[in-house]
Amino acid sequence: MTSKLIHERAQLRDVLDEHRRQGRTVGVVPTMGALHEGHLSLVRAAKCEADLVVVTIFVNPIQFGPNEDFEKYPRTLAQDADLVGTEGADLVFSPSVVEMYPLGEQTRVRVTELSLGLCGAHRPGHFEGVATVVAKFFNLIGAGIYFFGEKDYQQLRVIERMARDLLFPIRIVGCPIVRQEDGLALSSRNVYLNQEERLVAPGLSVGLFAARTAYRQGERDVSALLLIAQRTINAHAREGAALQLEYLELRDADNLSGQIADERGLITPRTRKVVLLVAARLGSTRLIDNVLF
Ligand code: AMP
Repeated sequence: MTSKLIHERAQLRDVLDEHRRQGRTVGVVPTMGALHEGHLSLVRAAKCEADLVVVTIFVNPIQFGPNEDFEKYPRTLAQDADLVGTEGADLVFSPSVVEMYPLGEQTRVRVTELSLGLCGAHRPGHFEGVATVVAKFFNLIGAGIYFFGEKDYQQLRVIERMARDLLFPIRIVGCPIVRQEDGLALSSRNVYLNQEERLVAPGLSVGLFAARTAYRQGERDVSALLLIAQRTINAHAREGAALQLEYLELRDADNLSGQIADERGLITPRTRKVVLLVAARLGSTRLIDNVLF
């Protein structure tokens, strides 16, 4: 099965109106393309819960910093449309930049607290770019169920907050991280890794899992848990390729608060769910990952 490829807002609206008239519910998977199994897992989740599945493919310029990879970000639209068609997606919406940012545009959406820290601290303006483009998709596509991956954990929390604050009549579903057999979280950016780096990259997830195992065995000391993760990650370094940590942090999984420990540095029983988040550079590639305890 192939999905219908749409580039213009007006056409998208017409097609959606027609489906809604026929009583169909809409499921949406926003992406930047270069699709992999992680994205496809979101399409499958959408298929299960909605009658009509829309995949958006848009490399959003305003969420990239001036020295980031906007230009070289992989673009594989024809292949992506085939892939999601095979999974049963009905529509692929792939707008141009001016379609999303009309000439003279000056409006941004900013989620204040949740965008600070973690990736927000290392990628100034990134979450403002994300919140702005996702708000535009919410507006364009309207009521429905929107699927996002837990791979981008802070992004998921930022988008949930934005949707609630701006009263969008939508539901958001977070989906688990899809990994390769060696633990590496699937990412469109993994294609940047050379052979040596590809061997080192799984160290990130192995480090997170090691800390989770210690937590499950009763370790509650924040410093001890971070050290376990860090040591494991460092142990994966090879000649010419090593993960350089940008951050490694334990946070409250619901609100991303860093206030999870008592005065002794032990995670309090009050903290219902904990997430360990990491970002690292491997050569010129930036990788992120996280694990829920
Ligand atoms: P991106 O194209 O990287 O912007 O990702 C589009 C959506 O797919 C986001 O909601 C991501 O969190 C999600 N996603 C990306 N990689 C994965 C993965 N490995 N597992 C689950 N979801 C993912």
